[in-house]
Amino acid sequence: MGARRGNEDDTVVIRRVSPEPVGRRSVLHAGLGGAATFLLAAGFGAFWWQRRVKPIPIGTATEAQIDQTQPCETIVTYLAPDKSVVIIDFPSLEAQGLTLDRVAAFVEKAGVPHNSVLGDAALSAAITASGDTVASYYYGHDYQAGDLARFFILAQSENIALNPQELWLKQLLRQLGWLAPGANGAIITLPAAGGDVPPEMRAVILRHEISHGAFYTVPEYRHYVEQFWASLTPDDRAAFTGFLGRQGYDTSLTELMLNETQAYLIFTRDPRFFNAAAIGKTEAEVSQLRQGFIASMPDFWLTPLATAPLPPVPVAMAACPEKQAMLTAGKRLCLCYRTGGLASA
Ligand SMILES: [Zn+2]
Repeated sequence: MGARRGNEDDTVVIRRVSPEPVGRRSVLHAGLGGAATFLLAAGFGAFWWQRRVKPIPIGTATEAQIDQTQPCETIVTYLAPDKSVVIIDFPSLEAQGLTLDRVAAFVEKAGVPHNSVLGDAALSAAITASGDTVASYYYGHDYQAGDLARFFILAQSENIALNPQELWLKQLLRQLGWLAPGANGAIITLPAAGGDVPPEMRAVILRHEISHGAFYTVPEYRHYVEQFWASLTPDDRAAFTGFLGRQGYDTSLTELMLNETQAYLIFTRDPRFFNAAAIGKTEAEVSQLRQGFIASMPDFWLTPLATAPLPPVPVAMAACPEKQAMLTAGKRLCLCYRTGGLASA
């Protein structure tokens, strides 16, 4: 979900590791010659790696639970109705940007290559050229496991120096098993309320990103969205593509265009992010498109969210510390949710 900017349609854009499976080797292999010695050494390496790296805690939360709280540190949860969707809730837009802006450029931003990973200077230049900052490049992110795996493989082969936040993401993906080929999963993200993001905007961003999670992990839904896109008139497709291009998405990526179209049209009911004028249509025309989409939508966990109002959010939320809490000891100064449940501090 793209960053807010003062474009003419006055909308807000929402948005958005090398596979090295370490197998524990049995000590029974010792004494079987040089190869066994090598395997034993590899086993010790894996053992020490596993001992050294503390697993990232991952809880489970519903949409409403996330909307009613906010993180004081980076929190990872499975989405309750579909555990192949993993939500990263960041303590700030800055923390989110440091973790995912380079991935965003690689996967889907306009004006940058998608077959190589940007170094720090090139990434910084790309963000500036788009009129954004690290914090505002996207308000929420969403990526399928395969694209994330490709990013980290390329970053390693191109010797791109990743920052600590990106290495943390790689650790998370390794832990989830999503660096392996063919993994089915999606990461979606949102920032804590504060600054440009009032509490109700968190809920808007989350609903938008949840729809992307479903698109990536439920093949029947992806297929339905592709059919819907194909059923649009060329003018309608051009209207959505134009809107998305103005938000910084690479319009040459058809799958991205149709995925974002379902997310904005159906699951982003906030005129700051999407409205009829933004695609040069009347409210009645947009309403007709929505009704057509919803009427034939496959029936699964996402379906009720196409029409349900957003969950309630607290009127005010205590400001979260702006620190990168995953790098420091997390301070829970505000209402937080954690892997074990809700906790206020
Ligand atoms: Zn989106």
